[in-house]
Amino acid sequence: MCLDFANTLGGLRGGETQEYLSSYDDLVAWGQQMESMATDNVAFLLLEKQHHPHEANAVLASARTLREAIYRIFAAIATNKKPTDTDLATLNTYLGKSLAGGRIVPVADGFGWEWVGDRYALDQMLGPVARSAAQLLTSPQLVLVRECMNTSCSWLFVDHTKNHRRRWCSATGCGNVAKVRRHRQRQRPGPTGS
Ligand SMILES: [Zn+2]
Repeated sequence: MCLDFANTLGGLRGGETQEYLSSYDDLVAWGQQMESMATDNVAFLLLEKQHHPHEANAVLASARTLREAIYRIFAAIATNKKPTDTDLATLNTYLGKSLAGGRIVPVADGFGWEWVGDRYALDQMLGPVARSAAQLLTSPQLVLVRECMNTSCSWLFVDHTKNHRRRWCSATGCGNVAKVRRHRQRQRPGPTGS
């Protein structure tokens, strides 16, 4: 989930980008799609947004701040670098807030986490994102985090392939672009004359 959230900015960071979180509604739609918030809360949030438009905009701005911190953390790790303390601090701020809503409850085969939150909280979709980042950072899968090799894409992914040599965020998207480019390079006529 945290990498999907990082990928809500398309294109290349530091180059041409495409913003998928253009409005607070986009953020709610993302949260609903990724199940980082209860679908039942969507109507509440859209109503809350109407009553508190400035707060909703502030949440959108902080969602992007969290997103870029998450991106930089995992992009650093993908290239064997250390994430900065500032980015980890940003993540920890959201994480701390989110963990405060955690409860242990009995479930069918033992105990599980239940996450209690304010259904009116405009930023409720961000807690699960922060927890997802914390989970990935502490999991053995961390070494499989990669950044797309396409020079116009900075999407992150977990490389689940057997030989762990996946280079593109998607075979049909960037992988295909690379394939076409290689094909064109082969087709290009060589130097003439001499
Ligand atoms: Zn890509």
